[in-house]
This record gives sequence, structure tokens and C-alpha cells, in this order.
Amino acid sequence: MNEPVPEISVVLPAHNEAGNIAPMAAMLAGLLQPFGRYEIVFVDDGSSDGTLSAIHAAADANPAIRYVSFTRNFGHQEALRAGLRHARGDAVIVMDADFEHPPELIPDLVAAWREGAKVVATRREDGEADLPAMKSLTSRLYYRLLDAIGDVRIEPGSSDYMLLDRSVVDVINELGDQDVFLRGTVRWFGYPTTTVTFSRGARTYGESKYTLRRMVDLAVTGIAAHSVRPLRLAIWLALAFAAFGFLLLIYSVVSYLLVPQTVTGWTSIISTIALLGAAQLLVLGIIGEYVGRILREARGRPTYIVGETEADRRTSREVIGFRRPAE
Ligand code: UDP
Ligand code: MG
Repeated sequence: MNEPVPEISVVLPAHNEAGNIAPMAAMLAGLLQPFGRYEIVFVDDGSSDGTLSAIHAAADANPAIRYVSFTRNFGHQEALRAGLRHARGDAVIVMDADFEHPPELIPDLVAAWREGAKVVATRREDGEADLPAMKSLTSRLYYRLLDAIGDVRIEPGSSDYMLLDRSVVDVINELGDQDVFLRGTVRWFGYPTTTVTFSRGARTYGESKYTLRRMVDLAVTGIAAHSVRPLRLAIWLALAFAAFGFLLLIYSVVSYLLVPQTVTGWTSIISTIALLGAAQLLVLGIIGEYVGRILREARGRPTYIVGETEADRRTSREVIGFRRPAE
């Protein structure tokens, strides 16, 4: 491998983005040309709509396009990690493949990096019209909650559109964590960060893959990766319910002693049992969340499996007589 190391890498996770690959590749190539050495790394996250063929076509046409393809869908955050491991640039930009992260911002990101920022984060400006009100509200509330209980501060409107210096990428690539919430992990590192704002672009092909369930998954990962406070909440709740139960005990003993013909409170017993049952389930649920993660960490499984990369394709094309496009 005697190709020069690219200065700028752009990493794009793509899950069923077939129609976005070619226009995105063309637009990025145009934008990155002035920077000289660049590469574009697509991560096909188990797509079923021809995204991989679109990536093949793009990679065949432009040797600066590289890719990783997963054997199945492993999720956005895993695709980001694979892309960061595959990228070779001195600066690596991660962005969505669906045009919601405007590529036109790249020169600004690179300029901030050249001025010395190790991390250049981006933030959606408030008041964007096209973002569903519900998503905008829940995302704002979520970052506020994470700020209050977690060990990172993520400004509302943050997303996984950012530029990372090689030194930061190397640290991420060495992390042994199974659960990574990239935008949180990067801020937790504490490198000097510059923030560039943008207004969100419109998805031009396909639809959002973040169903409610995936959003909840990502939200829980963010909290569990950055806070153990929920465990403490469980303890406080348990204490509160124990105090309540103790008061109830005193009340029943006193009424038994002072009011001889008292029918002992069936209703209060039942409701107490119900309340305690609920509290125990809640606490168990919270503990289970962390225990499950401990189990996954202990297993130490790979978090994704790579099916093929551009290296496999290029060697097999050479073997069957295709010539590599001129570099
Ligand atoms: N994505 C992925 N794997 C998934 C889901 C999404 O690689 O399992 C990619 C997707 O192709 C896009 C980015 O992650 O490039 C953001 O996903 P999406 O647009 O669905 O999320 P939203 O913008 O609605 O938050
Ligand atoms: Mg999107």
C-alpha cells in the first residue's frame, strides 16, 4: 500500500440509502477536490435496497471512494465505528448519507480544524421548520436530562456530524467499550472543540431509519454510557418506599391498639403491595439494564462483522482481468 495517506476522510454510514449514494459521492468529490488528498468511506450497514451496488459503482468510478460493508444491519453507531477504523485521513468527518447534514459545511469544518480544533462539532440551529416538533422537543429534553445526570454536556441540536482530528480518532479506535454514543464519547474526551451551526437539510431519498424503538435504544445507550445515576435513583426510590411502609406499619399498630374493633385495612394493604411491587420491578429493570451491559462487555464480542471492503473488490477485479481505474 504505497498510496499517500489522505488528508481528509469523510465517513458516511448508510442503511438503505441506494438513491443517495451517487449524488452524495458526486457532491463530496466536488467539494473535496480543492483539498487535494481525500477519501470517502461509505459504510453499508446491512442494506437491502441496492445500496451496496450503488457503492460498488461509485468506488469503481472514483478510486478515492472506499467502503466497508457489514454482513447485516448492526446500527448507526457501529457503522460509525467501523468507518472511523477504516478511515486513514488526518481529519475524519462523519456525516449522514441522506443530505440532512449539509455537505456544503465541510470547508468550514476543515477551516476550523486547520485553525487547531481537535474536534469540530456541528449544531442544528433552533427553529428549523422541517424537523417534526415532537422530535425536536424530545431531543432537547433528552440532552437536558443527560446534562443533568450524566458526565457529559451535549448542546441541544448536536448530531453525529463532526470533524475529528486523527489523534481523537485513534483514541476512539482504541476504546474497548461495547456501547459507544459517539457524540457523547467525543465530548467526554475533553479535546478543544469548535462548534459550527447549520440548518438541517432535507432527506432527498428514502426515509428515516430511526423508528421510535431505535430512538429509545439510542437514548438509553446515551444515558447508560454516560451515567450511573439511574442506579442511585433505584436506591433512593427503594428508601422512600421503605419509609412509607414503615409509617404504614406504625399506623396499623396504633389503630389496632387504640380502636379495638378496627377492620384491618384491606385496601391499604393491597395498595401497598401494589406500590411495592411496582417499585421493585422498576428497580429490577434499572439493574437489569446495567447487568445486561456488563454481560455484553464481559463477552467482548465484536460489535459488527465486516462482509467486504473495497480492498476485496479491487483485488478480485484485478484477478478477473479488470484494470483499476487510473489514479
Ligand atoms: N443508518 C445506519 N444504520 C442504521 C440506521 C441508520 O447506518 O441502522 C444511517 C442512515 O443511512 C443515515 C444515518 O445513519 O445515513 C442517520 O440515519 P437516519 O437518517 O435514519 O436518522 P435521522 O436522520 O432520522 O435521525
Ligand atoms: Mg437522517
